[in-house]
Amino acid sequence: MSHTSLSPADIAHAIRNVPDFPKPGIQFKDITPVLADARLFAGAVDLLTQNFKPGSVDAVVGIDARGFIFAAAAAVKLQAGFVPVRKKGKLPYKTHEQDYALEYGTATVAIHVDALKPGSRVLLVDDLLATGGTAAAAAQLVEKLGANILEIGFLIELSFLNGRDKLKGYPIRSLVTY
Ligand code: AMP
Repeated sequence: MSHTSLSPADIAHAIRNVPDFPKPGIQFKDITPVLADARLFAGAVDLLTQNFKPGSVDAVVGIDARGFIFAAAAAVKLQAGFVPVRKKGKLPYKTHEQDYALEYGTATVAIHVDALKPGSRVLLVDDLLATGGTAAAAAQLVEKLGANILEIGFLIELSFLNGRDKLKGYPIRSLVTY
């Protein structure tokens, strides 16, 4: 439910392209100007949550690290809990881990074993969908705990990387597509 006249184009204008960060050839999508603008930040959270009423989601799961920012705000708005999926080695308690492929090598994400109740209704959120490996691994962790993913939301989608192919079967929402 959105109470704002803000459009995804307003958000798109604020996203800053940083060439060759963190390495040559990568166009980094810098969302800090969106966060710094109260109207854009609130509008982005409204758009990410617009399919859901407060109380209809049990937990918003955010992906380390920029996903946390939007997921936490969405959780408060939806009167849901917030659950972090973190890079391996950061969570203090017992975890489940999931490996996924990077361009070179692999990475691992983790979730606390008791972070979600079986059957709980989850909105999964990250800032950006690139190849989809990170979100697919996070989705596997959520499902390992027996929770149900209602939707996966991203501020940005790099559609030329075909990340959706790794997320077949999940409703996907992205606000700004390149
Ligand atoms: P992937 O697993 O390839 O979909 O990568 C998604 C993760 O990497 C997200 O958590 C993003 O924050 C980060 N990421 C990948 N590419 C970019 C980019 N061009 N700009 C900013 N963040 C990126």
